[in-house]
Amino acid sequence: MPLSPDEYRAPLARAARHADEWLESLAGRPVKPREGIEQLEAAFARPLPEHPTDPADVVDELARLAEPGLMAIGSGRFYGWVMGGTLPAALAADWLVSAWDQNNGLRFATPATAAIEERAGAWLLELLGLPETSTVGFTTGGTTANFVGLAAGRGAVLEAVGWNVNQGGLNGAPKVTVLVGAEVHSSVQLALRYLGLGEPTAVASDDQGRIRPDALEAALDAADGPIIVALQAGNLHSGAFDPMRESIRLAHEHQAWVHVDGAFGLWAAASPRWADALDGLAEADSWATDAHKTLNVPYDCGVAIVARPGALQSAFTAHTSYFIRDDAGIADPMDKVPELSRRARATPVWAALRSLGRSGVIALVEGLAANARALAEGLSAVPGVEVLNDVVFTQISLAFGSDERTRAVTQALIVDGTVWMSGSSWAGRAVLRVSVSNWSTDAADVAASVDAVARAIAAVDAADAAADGAVAASEADTGAKS
Ligand SMILES: *Cc1c(COP(=O)(O)O)cnc(C)c1O
Repeated sequence: MPLSPDEYRAPLARAARHADEWLESLAGRPVKPREGIEQLEAAFARPLPEHPTDPADVVDELARLAEPGLMAIGSGRFYGWVMGGTLPAALAADWLVSAWDQNNGLRFATPATAAIEERAGAWLLELLGLPETSTVGFTTGGTTANFVGLAAGRGAVLEAVGWNVNQGGLNGAPKVTVLVGAEVHSSVQLALRYLGLGEPTAVASDDQGRIRPDALEAALDAADGPIIVALQAGNLHSGAFDPMRESIRLAHEHQAWVHVDGAFGLWAAASPRWADALDGLAEADSWATDAHKTLNVPYDCGVAIVARPGALQSAFTAHTSYFIRDDAGIADPMDKVPELSRRARATPVWAALRSLGRSGVIALVEGLAANARALAEGLSAVPGVEVLNDVVFTQISLAFGSDERTRAVTQALIVDGTVWMSGSSWAGRAVLRVSVSNWSTDAADVAASVDAVARAIAAVDAADAAADGAVAASEADTGAKS
């Protein structure tokens, strides 16, 4: 069967229709998948087809088989992990990225998407108030963005003591001390592992999970040799921001490289509301964030930003004869991230920023935080609910009495299906974590979500009462006395 442009029309039209149906269902459908992994595995457990199938039929089959197992992450009542939905312009742009199929590595070869990436990066720096001469790389996510920023830092701190890590690797290199807050995100630890830097040294944090500058100073004093400090803008459980200005000043006094993991929290820098909380942020050396969280572009897209000119390229530029470079000195997209071949994932970021504008990004970020405050307020009025953190951004950690009871409420919420919130543990307690990350969450979602939590508590109370009743009845039957 010869392939002609017409071959694309029918499957793309079907995909658009299925996408439409899915998006339309989000407002009304339960957030949780209707079926679990076993059922989905069974649905897809078919032999490898021997022969071709019409592409449009493949799209129909895919949509039909997958639908029962889709999590409504785009729902305004999804608060799991930290995820975020998809802005319309970003989703549509993402479709174009696939249709264009640009391998966005070289400015010379894919000038349109390379230019889009450069503009998206420049807009981000302006929006977040970071140094405009920084280098920006677009990665698969926050984990890779942390890896990229920390890789630049590793190279720089070793170079400062006369060691070329590109040349010599880590065998025989001076030991690099890495200091992180006690509530560091596991992805930073993962990135350090990829970099051969091992497990970092944890520095004490306060009751909101913010690194304590006094403890950081003591750790810096105790370290000798090259140092990297990884700070956090946006604690997963509290939303809190590490004290930037003081921590960065202390680190720089010790010639340390300062990396900031701001996977979801870096976006607060777009709004004057958090100017005090993030004061000093721009003094760091590298930053990592996600566009697929707070900015609400489709998966996957992270952003790595490095202030020092050349530091990112030094870590990631490949030297191979077959890459034709147009103008020496200007970094190609592939010089700033681990991948050589990749999709033009900055394009949806450009579209999101183009569609929202500065005021729209500010409204998005402030809106998420306002919904978090409204949820915390509504929930703290429900008897039996404890809000454990100061709600300073988009994150809320809740408890419902004992750990056992908190887990039971978490389970009852999942069964109910109106919302999705994640069970976790924080400060030694089981918690239910609410992360407001979706641009489409509105007041009705907030009210429905408070009701859902109240219902889950009632369900747990009813189950407890029934269990007590059953115990009492069986004790009465056997004549047992308590
Ligand atoms: C989500 C998150 C990460 C990791 O980002 P991915 O996009 O999942 O790789 C890192 N740090 C923090 C604080 C996060 O919330």
